[in-house]
Amino acid sequence: MRSLQSEIEQRGTRILRWVDQHPDSLFSKAGFYQRLMALSMRDEQFKLQLFRFVDVLPSLHRSGEIVEHLEEYFADVRDGFAPFVHAGIRLARIAPWVSGRVLRWNVSGMAHQFIAGKNPDDVVKTLRKRRAQRIGFTVDLLGEAVVSETEADEYAGRCLDLLETLARETQGWTDPLGRNSELFPVVNVSLKISALYSQINPADPADAIAHLAPKLLPILRQARERGTFINFDMESYAHKNVTLELFKRIFTDRDFKDWPHVGIVIQAYLRDSEIDLRDLIEWGRARGTRFAVRLVKGAYWDHETIQASQNAWNCPVYSQKPESDANFEALTRLLLENESIVTAAFGSHNVRSIAHAQAFADELGVDRSRFEFQLLYGMGWPIKRALVEMGYRVREYCPLGELLPGMSYFVRRLLENTSNEGFLRAKFAENLSEDELLRDPRELLRTSRNGVLPRSNNLTINAMKEPHPSHNRSLDTPPGDTYENAPLTNFAQPESQEKMRKALSEMRTRLGKEYPLVINGEKIFTGKTIASINPSSPEDVVGAVAEAGIEEAERAVKAARDAFEKWRWTPFEQRAQLLERAAAIMDRRRFELSALEVFEVGKPWVEADGDIREAIDFCLFYAQQMRLIRRPRLTQHVPGEESYYHYWPRGVAFVIAPWNFPLAILCGMTTAALVTGNTVIMKPAEQSAVCGAMLMEILEEAGVPPGVLNYLPGKGSVMGAHLVDRKDVDLIAFTGSREVGLRIWQSAGITRPGQRELKRVVCEMGGKNAVIIDADADVDEAIVDCTYSAFGYQGQKCSALSRLILLEENHDRVMERLLKAAASVRVGNPEEPGITVGPVIDEAAYNRILDYIQIGKSEATLAYQREDVPAKGFFIPPTIFSDVKPNMRIAREEIFGPVVSVLKVRDLDEAIAVANGTDYALTAGFFSRSPANIERAKAQIEAGNVYINRSCTGAVVGRHPFGGFKMSGGGTKAGGADYLLQFLVPRVVTENITRHGFAPEQTPEYRDEFLWAK
Ligand SMILES: Cc1cc2nc3c(=O)[nH]c(=O)nc-3n(C[C@H](O)[C@H](O)[C@H](O)COP(=O)(O)OP(=O)(O)OC[C@H]3O[C@@H](n4cnc5c(N)ncnc54)[C@H](O)[C@@H]3O)c2cc1C
Repeated sequence: MRSLQSEIEQRGTRILRWVDQHPDSLFSKAGFYQRLMALSMRDEQFKLQLFRFVDVLPSLHRSGEIVEHLEEYFADVRDGFAPFVHAGIRLARIAPWVSGRVLRWNVSGMAHQFIAGKNPDDVVKTLRKRRAQRIGFTVDLLGEAVVSETEADEYAGRCLDLLETLARETQGWTDPLGRNSELFPVVNVSLKISALYSQINPADPADAIAHLAPKLLPILRQARERGTFINFDMESYAHKNVTLELFKRIFTDRDFKDWPHVGIVIQAYLRDSEIDLRDLIEWGRARGTRFAVRLVKGAYWDHETIQASQNAWNCPVYSQKPESDANFEALTRLLLENESIVTAAFGSHNVRSIAHAQAFADELGVDRSRFEFQLLYGMGWPIKRALVEMGYRVREYCPLGELLPGMSYFVRRLLENTSNEGFLRAKFAENLSEDELLRDPRELLRTSRNGVLPRSNNLTINAMKEPHPSHNRSLDTPPGDTYENAPLTNFAQPESQEKMRKALSEMRTRLGKEYPLVINGEKIFTGKTIASINPSSPEDVVGAVAEAGIEEAERAVKAARDAFEKWRWTPFEQRAQLLERAAAIMDRRRFELSALEVFEVGKPWVEADGDIREAIDFCLFYAQQMRLIRRPRLTQHVPGEESYYHYWPRGVAFVIAPWNFPLAILCGMTTAALVTGNTVIMKPAEQSAVCGAMLMEILEEAGVPPGVLNYLPGKGSVMGAHLVDRKDVDLIAFTGSREVGLRIWQSAGITRPGQRELKRVVCEMGGKNAVIIDADADVDEAIVDCTYSAFGYQGQKCSALSRLILLEENHDRVMERLLKAAASVRVGNPEEPGITVGPVIDEAAYNRILDYIQIGKSEATLAYQREDVPAKGFFIPPTIFSDVKPNMRIAREEIFGPVVSVLKVRDLDEAIAVANGTDYALTAGFFSRSPANIERAKAQIEAGNVYINRSCTGAVVGRHPFGGFKMSGGGTKAGGADYLLQFLVPRVVTENITRHGFAPEQTPEYRDEFLWAK
């Protein structure tokens, strides 16, 4: 008996020979598309520009615009094909109208190589042709990732129409193989769940299922009635568990339990795919009815890899291509071994993967009519033909729809066809030998040295494989690279959801406790307390914190002053380690702290977790930064003299923090002061004083000495104002409103009798942040990001979007979708996972925001206001005003709530002028796909943090040093390399090292003995 490998080789060779006789036109050298693909495979930069151009083209309406973009994307192209590109650009300039049309025609021609039809009638023509070629179909309605429930409902309606059309048009069609046809209905439809519910949140599978199930039921009923097979496609990892759970839940339901014509996708590139497949098989056996699994490698590899890296998550996908291939084969075996309950569909264009499935099926004696191969429309045509000739069942995946909604599908196909790792490219473009193409992937993994394969050409993977720069730190290392960010919690994982639920219920039992002040290590109850209440349920007291008055403030200053004399001489390393211990404690208590934030400040789960992550990051980042700047550094090599530049702490720091990032901002300012050798009086906001008490507890556990940190909640107007004026306070680190910030700035400028230092004020204030959506922007992305930027955490981030600037040209188009998206965001008690908009912080904020809404109604047009917000708690309905003019109050004043003003402008010049026409300069956003406009926005928008093509909130420590200028702040950047310098005074010591005309030949770069002088 021949080995499995030789069976695979024999079958693979047969397919490849057949393929060689009928080469794939997609990879031929002729034709516009083919030439572009060939160029892309030769040059990564060209590929990047080409795909970006293709991505923007369908949303360009005028020929002139198309030509402008062409020029912007390709003007810098060098290399051998530059003449070709430049000739095209010249031609385009001469006849933009013709060129625009020609380009659009060509690109839509390219897309239609992968999209089987614009509408159901169109697609049916394709299906008829395939029928004649003995190839079956599954139709996929393009339009994933809807932004509103209206769009999701429209999609569901289109699915019903599609089912109807397909049933009607395929009447009388029979199974091409004629054997075991009861397993393979002729009509097969693939669904993507993200197209059916706009608010899927990985943290809340129950909500997603509760919304998806009712939308799916009519579709499924109709499909079953018409004898149609329904397949659930698999999308990004964030949606995986929801999709699996939904599938199992629905098809265990009484109505569908005995329906065999349902299937789901398993992605072999996922490390946990085997667990999922085994679980599905077990589920299927318990259900007692056949079902199907389409096994694929997976289409979102780049997305998953980038996402995991950005969030510091374990990467869910394999990093080496042969690992995915080997896993595909392992899962193939698992599927075929369980053929009695699961019908397998192998979704691959890889001849090795296909031949392995064939050979293994034969080895098990599974008849070839009992499983099928599925390939994508427009790809691997000769492979499909070869399989048909060999007597296998072949089904083609046929996307249906317009180019715009199909763009993400199209771009995925372009990437796949040009991927360095892909089989099709290896076979058709690079002509690898049969041996190489059919090699056992496990063999490849075994022979690779130390398990690491030869260097890949894939840009993403190479970026991931580069050693992290933190391994080689120096002053030249980008500051953000001095450490790796703490991970965000991945709420797609059920364990994380469970931990958060448990933490919330435990925290609930601890609410109402009393917390003391801490001065000089002594816990003090003053007889007066500040009650912190739950904004979702104002009668619930989260905790009561002892209130400090003037007397306690005086004691705290004295304690901090006394402690300073010792703390300032504590070696930097010890201080850095204090911060690292605090970070470790926060990490250990992460879910507990998040739960507290949910109750105390109404943060949705993800936002609360983000705040804890940021606090951890501040500790780690500042510890790293301190290590970098700690040592006195030689200023210049000069014979006979040495000068060392270094820093001293300033003295006593008074830290005044807001409630909206109750741990992160308080922790950031406090730890920056501590690590630099200052002592601290820490005043949390009254509304988040319990979070402040937790931070005190954490830093005490981490080992902060008595007096070095003093916890002093109290009234800002009384105790706060007293300390700001106090002569013994050397530095004030403030984050909060403009009104208070300016008062502090002014007051700190006055020198009091006996004052030693000029007070340094680190001052972060508010914003009136604008986002501009350019005419060519990706509106899907812009709407999602703007909705989140404006309404996430109820608009109570100082970075939140508050002025949306739309060009006349796209105003109506964007507004229509924006209003529907706003109507879809989830508003509710943030104890529930997946909420976007919770309550505002307190009654005063509630009333103030409602007042602004009244002002808005009198000044502008109320375009949208949500109605279904909870009656109990401080819930403000998400609100959008249109026809807003720059001089109106709602366009000028900070509202700090879920209220957006939309301003219509003529063009980009006016958009930038309006964006800049405010007192503030904190964050700003710009959505565009014009490289020239993007450069212009980067250069001209006045804001401390300018974000292009992404949300304008969510700064990450080290990556996006945060803070503004104008009336937004003093220009300091929290989480940035130079932040610590605010807390220090620079010093230089110079020594003449010459004695009687001789001097040492060398002076050390760093010297720190004198800092620790006895
Ligand atoms: C009919 C059909 C339906 C499909 N449906 C879905 C679906 O619902 N959801 C989905 O996600 N995908 C789906 N796919 C899969 C996807 O679209 C790709 O076509 C498929 O992954 C390509 O694999 P291949 O075996 O054809 O080619 P190969 O060239 O053998 O494999 C390419 C694949 O390997 C993986 N890969 C690439 N680089 C690496 C690396 N460095 N490390 C590890 N793995 C790597 C990626 O998954 C990549 O797509 C479907 C495919 C088909 C044919």
